[in-house]
Formats: sequence, structure tokens, C-alpha cells
Amino acid sequence: MMENKEELARIITAENGKPLKEAQGEITYSASFLEWFAEEARRIYGDVIPASAKDRRVLVLKQPVGVAAIITPWNFPSAMITRKVGAALAAGCTVVVKPAEDTPLSALALGELANQAGIPAGVYNVVPCSRQQTAAVGEVLCTDPLVSKISFTGSTATGKILLKHAAGTVKRVSMELGGHAPFIVFDSANVDRAVAGALASKYRNSGQTCVCTNRFLVQKGIHDEFVEKFAKAIDKELHVGNGFDAKTTQGPLINEKAVEKVEKHIKDAVSQGASIVTGGKRHSLGKNFFEPTLLTNVTTKMLCTQEETFGPLAPVIRFETEAEAVAIANAANVGLAGYFYSQDPAQIWRVAEQLEVGMVGVNEGIISSAECPFGGVKESGLGREGSKYGIDEYLEIKYVCFGGL
Ligand code: ADP
Repeated sequence: MMENKEELARIITAENGKPLKEAQGEITYSASFLEWFAEEARRIYGDVIPASAKDRRVLVLKQPVGVAAIITPWNFPSAMITRKVGAALAAGCTVVVKPAEDTPLSALALGELANQAGIPAGVYNVVPCSRQQTAAVGEVLCTDPLVSKISFTGSTATGKILLKHAAGTVKRVSMELGGHAPFIVFDSANVDRAVAGALASKYRNSGQTCVCTNRFLVQKGIHDEFVEKFAKAIDKELHVGNGFDAKTTQGPLINEKAVEKVEKHIKDAVSQGASIVTGGKRHSLGKNFFEPTLLTNVTTKMLCTQEETFGPLAPVIRFETEAEAVAIANAANVGLAGYFYSQDPAQIWRVAEQLEVGMVGVNEGIISSAECPFGGVKESGLGREGSKYGIDEYLEIKYVCFGGL
């Protein structure tokens, strides 16, 4: 098993470039969903409901929804599959996985492991396809009456296309879509903890996760100290390079398009008055490598604060009041993760309740794990994955009434 884990991690680094250490972390994370849902399978309880008539008995059964089509992204090529497949198999569904064009190998490797683990043929199916074929394959999966459930992780734009397709046969859907995570640092925060959280939340996977911080909001009293320490930490702790080098913390971005988006956001911000504190350009290694970047004097008029960058860019907006920060944080049509640092208990409750997101990190920058519900509000999606709630996405509730007793 250890051999498999090491091999899977190497496949991930080879196909999406993330540092081997992060890939190893992903494999542990990926396996944790299979373990979690293997246990949850034993707790798919039904109910006995007190009936309204003497001669009746009422039961609730939970049944698998049926075939689940699973469409996944490249940024966690193994874990995004197991988070869905673990729940689906535990519920009793068979699955058809369509992995991202950039990362089909992890999905196929999981197929081999499924065979080794004794999963019967036909239960875990993989349909890799080219970029050109993606839309057509996606349409078949989302419109075929044999498929009962679509579970998708990816961009909001693609999610909307799949929702339209799924409407034709009224399929069950789970959607984990884009985020635009705010990371608020209040004056009362512990700056060093906030910097450590900022580094992890922003630069994990080179900024290519849907829960990565996309905009930093820092209160004016703590702003300069936070920026200075954050810049120092970026320069000292982040190393761009080949994912297979032990020292690398930042691999290449997934493709040229991703690099162009980061460049576009920086150019737009600088043209509107933002200052580059560190980074700001393609790395000297060339290709898809980009320097971890920190911008200050950022405003809400800039592109990088209006849409997901999905890259190693940290824009910092300075704010004065809590109400202002919450208003900026919530001025988005998506709401996946949000983070804030504060040591004021009343403020912690207020802000945690007010943030319009599905997941909140209070004094924590990394919050995903198998036992916690992952998902968003607004255009960040529908449904929850992982946790005791995740299995419900693959179960139907059937009410059975026994009459004439
Ligand atoms: P990203 O921008 O993160 O690559 P996408 O939403 O484009 O996000 O991709 C996520 C997944 O959705 C990938 O597996 C991709 O192949 C798939 N995908 C993209 N477009 C379509 C589509 N029209 N129909 C079905 N799947 C799609």
C-alpha cells in the first residue's frame, strides 16, 4: 500500500506539477475520503415514523440514487475523485468518472487500485477525453437517462452548462464551483499567526485551489506590519521550481492560460495604482513558472478583487471598519470559503455569522478535511461533500407506508 501511495503521488506531480510533498499530502487526503465513507456506509440509517392511524406503520428507507457521473478538475486529480466516488460507492451507486483533460492518469491509477481492492468490474469507470471532446462527452453524461446524478467540481461557468443539461432529465446534482475567498485580518489579530495562515491559504498548490484566498482585507492599524511580515515570509519560505526537487514549494501553473490570467490581473491592478511588494512576473525558470506575488494599494475596482485569479497572486486591500470589511467580502456572486483573523470573541461570532460563504476559517488558513462539510453558497455551488452530510448527495429517501395492519 505504501508503494501505491508513493507511486500515486509521483503521478500527480508528473501530471500537474505540484511539489511532491503536496502530492503526498493529497494522496493522504484522497485516501481519507475512502476511509471516511467506508465507515459512513455502516450508518446509512432509515427511520420509523409514528403513524397518524392505528392500522399503519411508516418507514423511511435510504436507497442509492443510481449511476453517478462524476466530472473533476486537475488541481486535486486524486482527492476530487475520491471525495465523490467514496460517497457514491458507500451509498451503493456505480460511477462514471470524467477526469480533467490535463490529469487523466490519476483517475486511471485509481481504477487499477479499485481492481486490486476487489471492486467489481463496471462499478468504477473512467472516461478520459481530449479537450476537444469534453463538451460532447459532458453532454452525454448529463443528458443520458441512465445517469441519475451529476457531481461536478470545476468552474462556475462550466457548472452552469452542466446544470442546464441536467435539467432535461431532472437529475440530482452536486456542484462545487469557483470561489473568491476573502481573508480578513482585523487589528486584534495575532499577526504572526495571520501571516502563517495567509501563506498557506494563498500559496498552497501555487494558488490553484477553489478555497485559496483570492483577496486580503487588512485593517489599517495592522496593515503595514502584516504586509512587511507577509512579504518576508514569501521571500524566505516559498521556492519556485521543479515539483520533484525536495526544496520546491511552488510548482508551475497548470498551463499557459493560467499564467496569462495572473499576468492580466497584475497588469490591470498596477495600471490602476496597485504597488508590487514582491514578485510580479514570470519566473526566470520560464514556461509556466510564476513568481509568488504580493500587491498593496489594491481597490475593489481591480479585476483581481472581482474574479478568481487561481494563481500565486495576493492582493491586499486596506480597510477601516469591520462593517466595511464584511461588505467587501460579501460583495461577490460566489461564496465558498472565507477566512479571518481576530482575537475578539464577540467579533469572531459576528463575522463568522455574517460572511456569505459555505466554510469559514477563524484563525485558520487551511480547513478542509474528510469529516467536515465542504461546499459553497451563492454561485459557488449546490450540496456538500465529505462529512456525515456528503453521503446524502447519493441517496434517495423512500417513504414506505404499511396499511391495513
Ligand atoms: P477549470 O477552469 O478549473 O479547468 P473547468 O470547469 O473548465 O475548470 O473544468 C473542470 C472539469 O470540467 C474538467 O474535467 C473539464 O474537462 C470539465 N469540463 C469543461 N467544460 C465542460 C463541458 N462543457 N462539459 C463537461 N465537462 C466540461
